[in-house]
Amino acid sequence: MCFLKDFAYCLFFLSQALRLPKAGETIHGHKFFIGFGGKGANKCIQAARLGAKTAMVCKVGKDFFGDNYIQNFKDNGVNTEFVGQTSDAATGTASIIVNSAGENAIVIVAGANMLLGSGELHKALPVIRHAKVLVCQLEISPQTSLQALRMAQENKVKTIFNPAPAIPDLDSGFYGASGVFCCNETEAELLTGSSVITVEDADRAAQELLKRGCGSVIITLGPQGCVVLEGKESTSKHVPSTGVTAVDTTGAGDSFIGALALYTAHYPSMPLEEMARRANQVAGVSVQAVGTQSSYPNRKDLPADLF
Ligand code: ATP
Repeated sequence: MCFLKDFAYCLFFLSQALRLPKAGETIHGHKFFIGFGGKGANKCIQAARLGAKTAMVCKVGKDFFGDNYIQNFKDNGVNTEFVGQTSDAATGTASIIVNSAGENAIVIVAGANMLLGSGELHKALPVIRHAKVLVCQLEISPQTSLQALRMAQENKVKTIFNPAPAIPDLDSGFYGASGVFCCNETEAELLTGSSVITVEDADRAAQELLKRGCGSVIITLGPQGCVVLEGKESTSKHVPSTGVTAVDTTGAGDSFIGALALYTAHYPSMPLEEMARRANQVAGVSVQAVGTQSSYPNRKDLPADLF
């Protein structure tokens, strides 16, 4: 299985303070936290924790943060042979300040992420070609993501595309390159131009996205679970989430897709609806703990009937 890491950042630096500083001002905060992020990395680590053989294709800086970022993959059993390090840019970061009202100010520096291009994809072709599924997002250059999806398709590798963070003018080529097009309600709304709040709205949006050429569509709906529209079906299925008390839903979408990738790779004949039902359960566990990667479950902590 191969994951193409798309990110606007790799690491996040989170400071909590009573208020956000004004221009030129220095204030005291009361909490600081460094975390590993990136939508591709999150999905890859979730899939690895569920037992998938994973590899990342991405680029970080030749710096302290890049070294740590790579070590985090290794600690989670992810193959880092195609994680490049460059001296031309720093490791991607997001610096976040949150005030007591929960408002934030964020500076994202994509850094080395934007230097991932065709050359790196070609070097990674041996791992892409032998993957069972390739997962892409939209946090690196969209052209690189699209090229990776097409390389996978040309090599008969299944593809899952998560159009996040959403961009309104998505290249229409992404639809045809997506075996499964999986987005949340916000992304579905931006892409279709219609409000997506209810299951019925999601059904309409999924029908519209399917018409654009994707193999199948999944729209995740937070506590409502997801809607699954398989290419060969004319009606979508609503797959409810597990009824849990969520404490932090950050990264739930990545947990869902990481699990979906595992099921796609390990159970190729499983109906997509069943994969989504199981992915709901995995993501449902992740929302019951604080943090992103830190909340992702390992296979040993999940019911055996999920595998
Ligand atoms: P993020 O951007 O934070 O990664 P997302 O918006 O992409 O998340 P959601 O649609 O919020 O993703 O959630 C993905 C999946 O996580 C849902 O389909 C569901 O399975 C699970 N989930 C999310 N919120 C809850 C919740 N409150 N209770 C149970 N399951 C949840």
